[in-house]
Amino acid sequence: MLLLIKNYSANVHNFIFICDICNKKSVFIPIHFGYKYPFPTQIFPLPLPFKNFNRKMKGLIDRLKEDIRFEEGMKACMNCGVCTAICPSAEFYKYDPRVVCNAVQEGDEETIDALLKGEEIWYCGECMSCKMRCPRGNTVGLIIMALRKLSQETGLFVESEKGRQQFAIKRAIGSNILDLGYCVHPKRVPAELHPEQGPIWKWISENDEVIYNKLGGGNYGKEGAGVFRKISDESMDEIRRIFKVTGGQDFMDNIETCSRNKAKELGFDFDKEGEDQRYFRHIYSFNNQTHTKESEI
Ligand code: SF4
Ligand code: SF4
Repeated sequence: MLLLIKNYSANVHNFIFICDICNKKSVFIPIHFGYKYPFPTQIFPLPLPFKNFNRKMKGLIDRLKEDIRFEEGMKACMNCGVCTAICPSAEFYKYDPRVVCNAVQEGDEETIDALLKGEEIWYCGECMSCKMRCPRGNTVGLIIMALRKLSQETGLFVESEKGRQQFAIKRAIGSNILDLGYCVHPKRVPAELHPEQGPIWKWISENDEVIYNKLGGGNYGKEGAGVFRKISDESMDEIRRIFKVTGGQDFMDNIETCSRNKAKELGFDFDKEGEDQRYFRHIYSFNNQTHTKESEI
């Protein structure tokens, strides 16, 4: 693992290389231009190319095991199939949590690679019904969360139709948070993209100011208290800094980059921000009709 450390007193940067292969022994590569320790230091998140270097050094199963959700969700599967019997997604989709659990338990790199590229991991509804039922204390929903994150980090999500939809979530919910401070905001739920909202939603969208001002104390879009108030610039700066420091911004940038490459490969232009873009509209609405059990009949 490579870490970047800033040393405040000496105003210098150091790279530290910690080798995960030779049993966590560490090798230091100081670049501190004549200064010596001890100085107060702070560890910074690495720029993305260095992070990718760290990640590429490890196998998929090792990276999966680093995820706390995997550790929590995967104990020992005895292949009983109780999770499949109660899973609502397994009822509808071509999806079998027992098979997923068994596959990760085997720890084969090729199998994990296939899962990360495939459709199955995106079928789980994360309802956690499997958590209470498993006689061995596994939670397939948590294993799925860890697999999804790894698929997003490795860029393999673009290899499946359902995986490619991560780009829509990034452009919708991710951008809403960073632009407005809300996951969902009426101004970012256009009626044409959300028919599930029903026919009244179009009217609400067009009259949002009147409606939300009545509901929330007359502060819609303005600073102060109230429903869908404007989030202050100070709070927005803080949100963006949190995303930057925790790696959330890099994570979302990676989804954008991988999606751009895939769009190019599929012959779509990728020149616009937001949701008014051919690739976005394609992955948002396209369905090859092979996902459900019904499609097999
Ligand atoms: S995860 Fe639990 S319920 Fe599902 S097959 Fe394995 S042991 Fe059975
Ligand atoms: S969390 Fe996923 S795998 Fe578990 S029961 Fe719900 S849909 Fe099925």
